[in-house]
Amino acid sequence: MSRLDSFIRRMTAQRDILDHVCAEVAKMEGPVVELGLGNGRTFHHLRERLPGRRIVAFDRALAAHASSIPEAGNLVLGEIRETASRFIGIDAALVHADIGTGYEDRDAVTSTWLPDLIARLLRVGGIAVSGTPLDHPQLQRLAPPPSVPADRYFISRRV
Ligand code: SAM
Repeated sequence: MSRLDSFIRRMTAQRDILDHVCAEVAKMEGPVVELGLGNGRTFHHLRERLPGRRIVAFDRALAAHASSIPEAGNLVLGEIRETASRFIGIDAALVHADIGTGYEDRDAVTSTWLPDLIARLLRVGGIAVSGTPLDHPQLQRLAPPPSVPADRYFISRRV
């Protein structure tokens, strides 16, 4: 499969999964945490799907489109492992983590700290959506919607 095909499939999976979980997240209290603001496309999507919800976004540096920049106080710059740790206990209803690199060795390093960080950011019953699998005793893997092939994008619930 070409990288373009793979990218399109990943974006479609990302959009379908975010739409799938937003219906449930809309009924739950708690902010949304966006790990990896990037261009801000998924931030923009979440803002549309969850109007009025606080979304705290994290990245190393601001590179988002002007239409997709969180308001002051909800944009946190720096290394996520350190910056997001300061938000442990925020009781997020949803954590979306799109910080995979496509390089197995780098993603393996991220997987040593990301699942535990996400488990501590979520409220009990809260949902994690991620580009990499989250192996953690407090994160239970959920089935993706039928349109999303297995192991392309992941949903977990904080138990
Ligand atoms: N979901 C975003 C969108 O729709 O535009 C794209 C996110 S992009 C794939 C990943 C972003 O995560 C990059 O902007 C990168 O700088 C950031 N990132 C990855 N690992 C990070 C880390 N450890 N700390 C801070 N930022 C990180």
